[in-house]
Amino acid sequence: MSATGNSAERPTVLIVDDESTNIRVLAEILQNLYQLRFATDGEKALEIATTQKIDLILLDVVMPKMNGYEVCRRLKSVDATHKIPIIFVTSMGEVEDETQGFALGGVDYITKPVSPPVVRARVKTHLALKEQTDLLEQLSLIDFLTKIPNRRRFDEVLQREFASAGRSKTWFTLMILDVDFFKQYNDSYGHTRGDDCLREIAMALELTFSRPTDLVARYGGEEFGIVLRDTGFEGSCNLVEKIHENLQKLELSHLQSSVADRVTVSLGAVSLVPDQTMTPTALLEKADTLLYEAKENGRMRGICMDLTGGQKRVIISNEGAGG
Ligand code: GH3
Ligand code: MG
Ligand code: MG
Repeated sequence: MSATGNSAERPTVLIVDDESTNIRVLAEILQNLYQLRFATDGEKALEIATTQKIDLILLDVVMPKMNGYEVCRRLKSVDATHKIPIIFVTSMGEVEDETQGFALGGVDYITKPVSPPVVRARVKTHLALKEQTDLLEQLSLIDFLTKIPNRRRFDEVLQREFASAGRSKTWFTLMILDVDFFKQYNDSYGHTRGDDCLREIAMALELTFSRPTDLVARYGGEEFGIVLRDTGFEGSCNLVEKIHENLQKLELSHLQSSVADRVTVSLGAVSLVPDQTMTPTALLEKADTLLYEAKENGRMRGICMDLTGGQKRVIISNEGAGG
């Protein structure tokens, strides 16, 4: 039976009820199937749900101080907990009550006195649904070709990190990278080798940016977007140099390129401490303008700009020197 499986891999269910007898009944029904956590009031439930990894909550509706609906409302209003499926456990059974629970984001109801097979079936169903939803969501944020985050994920993280840097008044860097003469690459080596090339570049970029908060995404065809928190102008310049170096190490030959005999890239990079006058969209445009300038001025280079301090630096790849 799955009940004998490694408990570390089993989903965790939080049971919330002000009466310990009710908790005991539910615990007995689920104990061999899941890891269990317990709370006898709303405050405790919120604390556990925010500090531990909870996969599903069985939530009593009638509780003193904070009732189940209020607990649900609060869980749904916070990013960290709003995706946890909540099943209400209630003896009320009134239609209005049920609709209120669904309106607040609950996924199901179980009525007391509970029936063990019904509890097991509902918990199992909603855990499976949650797993599928999570998987789909993950897949929808991954680029199919390179398996790195996609444009949708990039936009999400850009908005979030930009706002966060603005609030904490810390440095923030955005880069847009575009492969040079990639049309010619496809034309001379074929589309399949072109795809391979993009995958290799994606991997090299992922290796270049090692902090867990760094984000490298496929922005479009042969363009990549990079979002870096706590990274200022000097850091950005160093990283652009590192990108050139790491791409050089791939030794991807590109005989049709007009600037080198290897695959090279151009970049626009902007660093700033965000204030009210700047938006993520305006920042993207700024990075794009710098990228365009890098292309115009000979490609295989990054142009880094410090929007807060007003400096600008061009970082050219060594590739041209050897080629
Ligand atoms: P530039 O140096 O000015 O950037 O020139 P470029 O040729 O790289 O730019 P252009 O925008 O003219 O061409 C981009 C090329 O990238 C054309 C397109 O076929 C190719 N491309 C876009 N997405 C993919 C992809 O998923 N796979 C492959 N193999 N090629 C792609
Ligand atoms: Mg290009
Ligand atoms: Mg392009």
